Amino acid sequence: MSKKFGQNFLIDRHARERLSQLVYPNEKLRIWEIGPGIGALTERLLAGGSPVTAFEIDHGFCRILREQAFADEKGFRLVEGDFLKTWEEIFNCDGAPDVLFSNLPYNVGSVCIAKVLEAGCLPEKMVFTLQTEVAQRLAASQGSKDWSSLSMLVQADYLPRICFSLSGSCFYPPPAVSSSVIALERRPRSLVPKDLRPVFIKTIRMIFSQKRKTLKNNLIQIEGAEDKLINAGINPLLRAESLSLDQVIRLSVEIQKTGRQ
Ligand code: SAM
Repeated sequence: MSKKFGQNFLIDRHARERLSQLVYPNEKLRIWEIGPGIGALTERLLAGGSPVTAFEIDHGFCRILREQAFADEKGFRLVEGDFLKTWEEIFNCDGAPDVLFSNLPYNVGSVCIAKVLEAGCLPEKMVFTLQTEVAQRLAASQGSKDWSSLSMLVQADYLPRICFSLSGSCFYPPPAVSSSVIALERRPRSLVPKDLRPVFIKTIRMIFSQKRKTLKNNLIQIEGAEDKLINAGINPLLRAESLSLDQVIRLSVEIQKTGRQ
């Protein structure tokens, strides 16, 4: 067991059952699981008949998964190594999975989600066990204290729902932080048109680059930034966290007009 890899195993059977029910596996789903550990959740997903591609960094666990737990399991594919370094190759070959599922290692949870979405890998559904604080950021309403760049990135394409919380005793060892399960259903239609997406992602990055700075100052490298903000109906002296998703999309449209993002 390694602290470095955020290894807190979900040992509560009932919690595992509730989690896998959120996915409802059937033969039509292709599932990715980040951090299967020794496969307790994976087993439930495979039992539903869905093929599972599992990304695991711990070589000891990989050996168990490959040689013991799922040695004869045709639907199981293991990708050994750091998800952040391995997922893109699988995505480039196979496209996005139908479901992205994980009891995410707390130290890398939000990074994994951001990287996947920024690259345009948009599964139909995502189900995560996360640090409650991160789950609240994903599901935050505009204007609340948790509203952030991650909320904007996620909510452009997904409808988030915090399903339930899990007490520390559901895990071994119990994590130092509280945990929540969140399900994210893809919107029937993205709020961001496809051709605007790269600029939208860059705009989010730029306006949140220095949290304490105003929008105008964070957009200093954009020629005519102040006019673009005004054209989008935004006060240039505001900070990024006070913008709605709609305003960020309008600002992205203005920035795209000159192609100088
Ligand atoms: N799925 C198991 C469960 O729910 O009991 C284990 C969950 S544990 C919180 C996180 C798992 O993610 C561990 O197996 C850990 O080795 C793995 N992990 C941590 N960082 C990873 C990374 N960057 N890429 C892939 N797996 C990772």
